[in-house]
Amino acid sequence: MRYISTRGSAPVLSFEEAMLTGLARDGGLYVPETIPTLTADQIAAMQGQSYEDVAFTVMRPFIGDTFTDDEFRDLIAKAYATFGHAARAPMVQLAPNHFLLELFHGPTLAFKDFAMQLIGQMFQLALGRKGERVTIVGATSGDTGSAAIEAFRGLDNVDVFILYPHGRVSDVQRRQMTTPTESNVHALAVDGDFDDCQARLKDMFNDFEFRDGVRLAGVNSINWGRVLAQVVYYFTAATSLGAPLREVSFTVPTGNFGDIFAGYIAKRMGLPIKELVVATNQNDILDRCLKGQGYHKGTVHASISPSMDIQVSSNFERALFDAYDRDGNAVAQLMSELGQGGFDVSQGAMQALQDIYTSGRASEAETTQTITDALATTGELLCPHSAVGVKVAQELRDEATPMITLATAHPAKFPDAVEDATGIRPPLPRRMADLFERDERLTRVANDLEALKTHINGVLNT
Ligand SMILES: *Cc1c(COP(=O)(O)O)cnc(C)c1O
Repeated sequence: MRYISTRGSAPVLSFEEAMLTGLARDGGLYVPETIPTLTADQIAAMQGQSYEDVAFTVMRPFIGDTFTDDEFRDLIAKAYATFGHAARAPMVQLAPNHFLLELFHGPTLAFKDFAMQLIGQMFQLALGRKGERVTIVGATSGDTGSAAIEAFRGLDNVDVFILYPHGRVSDVQRRQMTTPTESNVHALAVDGDFDDCQARLKDMFNDFEFRDGVRLAGVNSINWGRVLAQVVYYFTAATSLGAPLREVSFTVPTGNFGDIFAGYIAKRMGLPIKELVVATNQNDILDRCLKGQGYHKGTVHASISPSMDIQVSSNFERALFDAYDRDGNAVAQLMSELGQGGFDVSQGAMQALQDIYTSGRASEAETTQTITDALATTGELLCPHSAVGVKVAQELRDEATPMITLATAHPAKFPDAVEDATGIRPPLPRRMADLFERDERLTRVANDLEALKTHINGVLNT
């Protein structure tokens, strides 16, 4: 299996190289050259299997000879052993034919643990056997950073620096990043918003001297390994509701488009998914784009679902690549227009996108109301991101098709929004109950490439 860049001019890589690299050297994102498919029998066989067994079947065709079957089974087992639920991704029911897929039982209480725990294991094995060391730099609106620090803390072959927007992440998110004591993990509070953090990260990757000097590796959702790990729970959820004999739909609270893109890959692999619904908060560039209004950047408005507060949705580039029939030049052109503020999608590409994705948005008030109503009608406490999904799913779902809404974080990760809506302050699970007593360690840095490079080089050279 080979990986190509969405901008058409970076070298073709193996799975291992694409995973260790992250962003392609032409500024694009790596995607598999072809999407493997599973037969209906292979999918039917997943009914009743463990999460780990399904994970092996779904991901194996993508990893080529990077790991042997035994190694890969072992990595999967280790990655999910840290989860607080035996099913890994259990479902609960919200209403007739509406289900909630709980993706928050990992060590940092958000779905990003599914990918990051596995990536941590894969990096460790791949780098260890080569005797190499890399520097991971990531940008986060909160959940990626905590998941990355948790997955890589104490590992031998990596240093991790996480850029997060100062003052714009929840206390739980920040403390999950700033309280680990291992000396290979570093939380950097940037004076800017999440898009600034993402832009500085891209700057670092495009500075080839720095990139090669520190052996930069990326684990943001642009990393193909992240997307791949997220394909698995679409299969476990759909087959437990009767796929492949029964079609299901998914609604996905969306920011950087990694999670929903994993759903699209599941569909391409043969999973019968009827609708893939993109749910956004008031930062609705994707909803507007998918409704045919072009992709034009506005300003980010801080919301109660901060992990979705973005204007530039990096994995959307992968969706555009397929919508433009994998024409890397066309994508490169769009991305350069985006640098000037935005672009319009061609009619053919728009049709291709709308054939796969539908979309909706939830305002702040609607999100809060949904949290209130869900408690009243189901007894469930929703985190605000999951509530955005539930609200949009309620509006767009057809009652004959099972709708699975992804619950992307645990309510205790965003206690203020949940308390405002319900009067209940959701407690942290017992395994992290002392989070607010641990000491914090972080560095404030300017929203500036040179300042960041200086800081990182300084830490690595001491
Ligand atoms: C990251 C995140 C999202 C958005 O996921 P994308 O893959 O970036 O679209 C939604 N909800 C929560 C809680 C998250 O952490």
